[in-house]
Amino acid sequence: SPIVSIANLSKVYASGLHALRDVNLDIAKGEIFALLGPNGAGKSTLINIVCGIVTPGSGQIRVGGHDILSDYRAARRMIGLVPQELTTDAFEKVWDTVSFSRGLFGLARDPAHIERVLRDLSLYDKRESRIMQLSGGMKRRVLIAKALAHEPQVLFLDEPTAGVDVELRQDMWRLVRRLREQGVTVILTTHYIEEAEEMADRVGVIRKGEIILVEDKVELMRKL
Ligand code: ADP
Ligand code: ADP
Repeated sequence: SPIVSIANLSKVYASGLHALRDVNLDIAKGEIFALLGPNGAGKSTLINIVCGIVTPGSGQIRVGGHDILSDYRAARRMIGLVPQELTTDAFEKVWDTVSFSRGLFGLARDPAHIERVLRDLSLYDKRESRIMQLSGGMKRRVLIAKALAHEPQVLFLDEPTAGVDVELRQDMWRLVRRLREQGVTVILTTHYIEEAEEMADRVGVIRKGEIILVEDKVELMRKL
């Protein structure tokens, strides 16, 4: 059974804007899935609904078999979300904010895991720095570390490489491949076809709130 299952999902914002129209999407465990579409297509809306940040309009979403409405905590526990914005606790130290993120899920402290995550993201040497002292790229790394602190089964990356330098982009791709080896499912949004091509196993093309195509990457690249 799919690790993420989205059925008949629609969303109309209070403004009257139809952000999503009858989205149906199943994502298999261990898959790297790219949601590809132009700005305003509904990518963030979709991710934010699955992660419980935006309320769904109608439809059903299950993560690891847990309904996100009736069983939110269990569903959310399985999810790591790397948002686009850099806003993160300016005065906190890197170590503390990442460790705290794990604690939010009621998990026991696990310094060895936090250390591994920080090392994977080249953040370990900065563990005692305050977030405000870090560059934009480093803040971005902190957001990823926070999302991985509770060992999620599904990682969502919203426009992960938008405005990111080459080194971080390459580190991100390496990280995604390593996560896949560990059986973690990765779902990312992008408006770059090259990024979908480089990173994903399967690509869903979204336009004006509708998924217009879902293809294995190889098939998609043959068509384009
Ligand atoms: P994408 O991530 O693909 O750029 P979004 O999901 O951010 O697309 O936006 C989809 C559409 O919904 C856009 O037209 C956007 O302006 C609109 N939208 C996003 N958030 C809101 C909101 N809170 N209220 C009203 N409209 C919104
Ligand atoms: P929290 O109270 O946020 O859960 P911890 O108990 O994990 O924090 O750690 C408290 C402090 O101990 C941190 O500020 C950090 O400086 C330090 N610390 C703990 N474990 C490690 C580690 N493996 N490497 C470096 N510093 C650590």
